Amino acid sequence: MNLSIDNSLFTCKGLPDFEKFTPGKINNDFPKIIEKLNLDFKNIESTFTTYLESNKISWDNIMNPLSEINEELRWSWGVISHLNSVNNSEELRDVYSKFLPQVINLGNKFGQSKNIYNVLKKLRENNNLSTIKNRILDKEITAMEHSGISLNSEEQKEYNRFSERLGELSTKFSNNVLDATNSWFLILKEKSQVDGLPERVLELMALSAQKHFKNIDKVNIKNGPWKLTLDIPTYTAFMNYASNRELRELLYKAFVSRASQDENDNTEIIDEILLLRKKQAKLLGYNSWAELSLSTKMASKIENVERLLEELRSPALEAAENELLFLNNFAYQKGFNKNEKLKPWDISFWSELLRKEKLNLDQEALRPWFPLNDVLKGLFNLSEKLFEITVVEANGEAPIWNKDVLFFNILDSEKTKIASFYLDPFSRPENKRGGAWMDECLSKNKNSLGEETIPVAYLVCNQTPPSNDKPSLMSFDEVQTLFHEFGHGLQHMLTKIDLPQAAGINNVEWDAVELPSQFMENWCFDKNTLLNIAKHWQTGETLPEEDYEKLCSNRTFHGGMATLRQIHFAITDLRLHSNLSSYKNKSPYEIRKDIAKDTTVLDPIEEDNFLCCFSHIFAGGYSAGYYSYKWAEVLSADAFSMFEEAGLENDKIIKNIGKKFRDTILSQGGSLPPLEIFKSFRGREPQTDPLIRHLGFTKAN
Ligand SMILES: [Zn+2]
Repeated sequence: MNLSIDNSLFTCKGLPDFEKFTPGKINNDFPKIIEKLNLDFKNIESTFTTYLESNKISWDNIMNPLSEINEELRWSWGVISHLNSVNNSEELRDVYSKFLPQVINLGNKFGQSKNIYNVLKKLRENNNLSTIKNRILDKEITAMEHSGISLNSEEQKEYNRFSERLGELSTKFSNNVLDATNSWFLILKEKSQVDGLPERVLELMALSAQKHFKNIDKVNIKNGPWKLTLDIPTYTAFMNYASNRELRELLYKAFVSRASQDENDNTEIIDEILLLRKKQAKLLGYNSWAELSLSTKMASKIENVERLLEELRSPALEAAENELLFLNNFAYQKGFNKNEKLKPWDISFWSELLRKEKLNLDQEALRPWFPLNDVLKGLFNLSEKLFEITVVEANGEAPIWNKDVLFFNILDSEKTKIASFYLDPFSRPENKRGGAWMDECLSKNKNSLGEETIPVAYLVCNQTPPSNDKPSLMSFDEVQTLFHEFGHGLQHMLTKIDLPQAAGINNVEWDAVELPSQFMENWCFDKNTLLNIAKHWQTGETLPEEDYEKLCSNRTFHGGMATLRQIHFAITDLRLHSNLSSYKNKSPYEIRKDIAKDTTVLDPIEEDNFLCCFSHIFAGGYSAGYYSYKWAEVLSADAFSMFEEAGLENDKIIKNIGKKFRDTILSQGGSLPPLEIFKSFRGREPQTDPLIRHLGFTKAN
């Protein structure tokens, strides 16, 4: 077989030569990769059949070829999707969407092959494998079973029918949310209607009014008209700053009732989604969708999630009640009608005023203390102290996709290179997707020939770029984001696992994957760490302590209400998917109302039908998994508290604990159950107390 692939492009190993991956080249060469992988897979299947017959089932015979073919697909498509995110163009986007279905198809083929499934099961039966290998195998088999592979043909048909319908329903769900959001607007012409809004919001609204009327050729920020819409930036800013209470009420009601009536009504879609998920879970042998979802997660059981959420709920409720009381009194002092209580559409507005008065924190004004280079230096110093590594600049050593991209190596205590990473720091709206993320460029691996690959990570942020006369001056949020992504990167890069299936973040349960990233964020609030980083880029002066205190207070400001809101979402999601007998004859709307009784401080108003736009669980991947946000926060706060208990000033002990963190959570990745790894670090099961303390709540007894 000779498919004459240009080997200089899709090498499937080593660092990609990004510049060579032009849309034209990809368009020409990628189909050959797909063709080759399809053929390879066919060969693997037939070889496996002979192995089955001749009883030659062993880890190396089975898992190595599977891992190699998966890696080829991951590598090749990885470059394309990476470039699609960081060096986008119309041509590349076209090529990307053209090949995406084929890649999904190929992935499904790998994951749904009955032949592979039987071989994997045989491998599990026959062999005395190590714990790590058993875990990899178990997860692989379970994933295949969850896609319906072990069902009889009738059941499988049904299963596939449900899957297809669920796919349609979730697309319909998000389209309805989008259409309902986009169809609502108000044109404001009076200045009294936009009173209190900052200039950047007025500009946003004036621009969208200009687009709306088309015939206005000059945007008039000061005199309007302004278009009020339900898109998040406008909605949030209006709720936070607009002093016109009637308009806030109108906007709020429109927002919380989105997609719950008329042609964009999601009510029946929700019913059908919940029913089909229940049926699908039953087919796979689970009592509920929540049970199915949790079976592959660290939480593992519904009652574990309920328990954790309850531990947070009661102190959060108490804190939220106090915050609301305080806010009401503050509003009365500032002239709010004393015969009334604050309504849902008043909370953000008065909170912002209170925040301004209490904290007087101007985040923009702190940027000069956070130039990128110093922040990086501080982050690397911290990592060196905690994890016995050295980070060294290695620009020029690796091909890059944009001149601003930086490249670094990580050395261990013997000065041996153990990993590398790219950092693409700046926002580039013309060709780079928003947000921040860590992705794997290369995974740690030792192949069948004994060749070793060291891990390489992509760290991508979207922070403020430098200007002519200034370096990149970061906001404190941007600093936290960088620490967060670096935490993910550390788990990818400091792994000690040679099997790519469980190296780094691979095979880590979804509700445990945010542990290292959120753990690193905690250090931004450590006084020593932060004040060592924050030096004014011109004067070299350290950030005033007073500003550090403000950043800390801001972190916990109205933490009760914020936490309670997340808990409300998490419990609602979990119970809707748990088939509880107490909810048997209730609609999702009623169930949510019921849950709201002890998870909100202000009862949802009649119009509030937020389930109809709860896209995370009805159109995204969070169903029976929304709790993960809180779960990971508990883990990371608890891990950090081990350092706090030892005393953050005590460098020697901090180093020891840091080493332990590296040797467990960062090194072992997905090789063992996350609870086991956590326990070997912390010496016990996770506890909620540290998070409760960080949020400033008092624990109810
Ligand atoms: Zn993350």
